[in-house]
Amino acid sequence: MRKVDYCVLHCTAGPRNQSVESIKAHWKRLGWKTVGYHRLISPDGTVHNLADYSDITNGVKGFNAVSIHISYIGGIDSNGRAVDNRTDAQKAAQKVLIEEAAKLFPGIVILGHRDFSPDKNRDGAIQPGEWMKTCPSFSVKDWLKEIGFKSANKEYCRTLGALNMRSGFGTQFSIVTTLMPGVPVEKISEKNGWAYCQYGRFVGWIRSDLLIKI
Ligand SMILES: [Zn+2]
Repeated sequence: MRKVDYCVLHCTAGPRNQSVESIKAHWKRLGWKTVGYHRLISPDGTVHNLADYSDITNGVKGFNAVSIHISYIGGIDSNGRAVDNRTDAQKAAQKVLIEEAAKLFPGIVILGHRDFSPDKNRDGAIQPGEWMKTCPSFSVKDWLKEIGFKSANKEYCRTLGALNMRSGFGTQFSIVTTLMPGVPVEKISEKNGWAYCQYGRFVGWIRSDLLIKI
């Protein structure tokens, strides 16, 4: 199995009566070689298996190799505006799928598509004005807290480039590991402009200004 860092939640940004076949046909028309998501959830809670988690799908540009993608049908109102119109059945199915993902890929970080937007003003966080799109039309972070998901209160950051994790808060300390650009780290504490973080089995210090809050 490939290394998976992210479980990304999406909406189809389409009407709730959209058929799975019409969604797949749309991707084909766009010339995509793969489907857009691994799992697709109908309003009645049915989960459609579109791809195996070992396969790479086309959900978030630049992050597909390390992500799995789960989408619900809906996410817009009759005027095409973003709205969280998930049914209770869809929320229940999402919960089952993210719990399963957390078991399959220990340390996986669950985010919404919009949480991958660039930090244009470089203030270290992604604001609504910076969203490249509104998908999945709800705050994944808030929802994880609401359902009491086990990692909901952890603070995660994404690396802004290939970064050295060090054994202390300064460049004089030894390198524990070098992290790939764009991976999620759990921030445990902060001191003198350095963040104490964990990524998989690695724990150490990373310069705070090279991290973006997710
Ligand atoms: Zn999306």
